[in-house]
This record gives sequence, structure tokens and C-alpha cells, in this order.
Amino acid sequence: MDVVRSLGLEDVPEQQTRIGLFLSSGGELVEDVKVGFDVCVACGNSNPKIYCQACKRVKYCSDACKKKDTTPPDDDEEQALGHSSIVCTLLRTCNDDELVEGKEDKGMPEAKRTPAFDRVASEMESYPATLANIIFEGPCFQEKLQKNSGGEVEIHVIGTSPDSELWEGHPDSSQEKKVFKCYAEALSEMADRFKFESIQLKFIGPECPKIDMVDTILIPSMKNRKIKCKLNVMTKRVNYSKSLLNGKHFNCPDIVVFFNPGFTCPDYTWEEAVSAIPGGTPYLVTTNTELEGIADAQYLMENSFIAHLPEGLAHILEPDAPRTEIEDNETFFSINPFSGERVRQSGTMANDLYVKSRWILGGKLLGSESKESKTSKKRQKVTGSGNTKKNNPALI
Ligand SMILES: [Zn+2]
Ligand SMILES: [Zn+2]
Repeated sequence: MDVVRSLGLEDVPEQQTRIGLFLSSGGELVEDVKVGFDVCVACGNSNPKIYCQACKRVKYCSDACKKKDTTPPDDDEEQALGHSSIVCTLLRTCNDDELVEGKEDKGMPEAKRTPAFDRVASEMESYPATLANIIFEGPCFQEKLQKNSGGEVEIHVIGTSPDSELWEGHPDSSQEKKVFKCYAEALSEMADRFKFESIQLKFIGPECPKIDMVDTILIPSMKNRKIKCKLNVMTKRVNYSKSLLNGKHFNCPDIVVFFNPGFTCPDYTWEEAVSAIPGGTPYLVTTNTELEGIADAQYLMENSFIAHLPEGLAHILEPDAPRTEIEDNETFFSINPFSGERVRQSGTMANDLYVKSRWILGGKLLGSESKESKTSKKRQKVTGSGNTKKNNPALI
């Protein structure tokens, strides 16, 4: 049985690195410092030499620091548990998963190999499963699906990267699990229900393969349909922009998908890409952690790409705020029931864990026309009401 399931974890413990402990023992959070890798996870000493012997994935400078990090905190308010036994157990699965993924699993006992194999496969298959099922079930997508039924629907996956949504090398090589075939299988229920003739699935982004991939696959139908739905896939190595959509080869999207975009990540700007999407287009964003989901939703909100925060998130951020009068079933922020079971280790905080696309948010985008008018309105309101930054702590 899979470790993640057998531990009975409802949620993967995402932020477990005890930053409080780290800072109070002299550690300094500097950009690019990898806590628990380059520096001791408990005190920030830059010469960590000892690994946790069980998982060999978290580094300490001394036995004393190791003891501190593995001992549960006495003060109840500190939620992050450090290198607890659960974190250590989950990190050990990372070792197995990496061996299976790298096809270096020779001699690995079957009892370890099989679950690792399933976890790696489940993460890969989670991309098609998430895309197809969330669009099929999410209320904000229904209008577009309905409107295009009997014809064609165009889905753009923006900011595609080759090792995630375009994965290669499924561990089950005997079954010819090719990525586009997986998308076709996952989309079969939607194709049947809406009687689509074709689904256009376009992967776009500067990290797409140098040579465009183009493929047409018949979507397996569960019903006996006379006309089988075709899945037309295409990758395009280009920045998503208005001029791309105005060009010859691209229609405007009916639905847009972003797998783990990291909108607030400083090394890439999303402004142009998101501005290019026409108003009213339903979107799906996945993120690896709840915090990243919150940051991405806030980015969309602060840049006026969405009218309000997704239902479920507004209440996390402002638990005391009154519920909106308008019943909103079009936006969502929640755990993704179609994410895989592979737990990964954060690259910057050694005790932090995540599952790819564990969180999802969605709704409808406002489009850049309403964005402009909305921003100017907002500015007026602030100056007009005399709410200077100085007086209003929320604006500082
Ligand atoms: Zn230390
Ligand atoms: Zn460990």
C-alpha cells in the first residue's frame, strides 16, 4: 500500500520547516539560501555535515541541531513540526520515486518498487486527469462546453513546460503510455457528453520543444458514436500574447489552463500572457501548495484579471468578512481530487513537501478591457475617500 495513503494523511504537510527555530538560532533567510541543503535546517550554520540517517535528505551541522529539529515543539502555536517522523517517512518515498523515475530501480525490493512506480505514474497521469475532469465538472466551464457542443472546443495550456504537462517516459513502458494518448483517454467522457467533433488542445510557452509537436488522436468513446471525436494537439514555443491570438494559426481559446504558473515568481512575467486572454474566458490554475494557490489568486485579483477572489479563498484570507450576497458557484479554490500521490521535497526548505497540482483555482477572467477601466476606478476611489497610505494600514 502506498505510504501516503497508509499514513491516513488528509493533507500533505506542506510547510514543515521550522523557520521560527531557524531564525531564533541565528539562521538568516537570504535569497538563494537553501535551508536544510546548503545550511543547517535548524540554525543556519553554513557548514552542515550530518544528514538525517533515515532519509538522507535533510542536513544538520550537529547532533544537537538534529535533535532540536526532530523533537516536537512544546509551544502549541508553532504548527510546523520540523523533521517529524511523518516528514521523514514521506521524504524516504522521494528516494524510491527518484530511482524509479531515473530507471535506476534495479535490485529494489518489489514492496518498495511497486508503490514508487504507482506514485510516479500517478503524478504523470494527473495532468491529463486534472485538465479533463476539472473542466468537465467545474461550473465555470459548462457554458463554453455547452455552447460548443456538437462542434469544436479549443483549450490552451499556457506556460507549458516539457517535464510536467508534456512528460515523456512513463514508467509503464509496456503499455505505451504516451502523453497525448493519456489526454485523449482522459477527455473521452467530455467528448461523449458534449458530442464534440474535435477538441483542440494547444500547449503554448517559451519552454515548449524547439520543434512543434503536432498530433491527431481519436478519442476513445464509451458510447457507440458514429463520429469519433478527434483530439488535435499542438505545441508552440512562443510567448502567449495578443498578436499570437490575432495571427493565423490560433483561435481565441474557449478555456485556458495554467499548470503551476507561479504568477508571482520574479523570473517570469505573466502580465502579457494573461492580458491576451479575452474577457469571460474560464480559467483553471493548479498550484503545488496552498500558499502558492493563495499567491496566484491574489496576483490575479491585484492585477484586476478577476473580479473577486475565488470562493473558499476569500474566507481563508478574511474569516470575519460577511459572505458575499451573490451566491457564487462559478469560482473555486480547493484541493485537487485528481492530483497524483507522489510527494516531493521542496528545493528551498528541506522539510517542506508538496504534491504537484495539489491545489486548484478557477473562475472567469475579466479580460484586459475591463481591467483598464477597473484600475482607474480603483485609483479614484482611494484618493477621493482620503484613504492615504499613511492612514489606512491595509494599503501600506
Ligand atoms: Zn545547526
Ligand atoms: Zn529523515
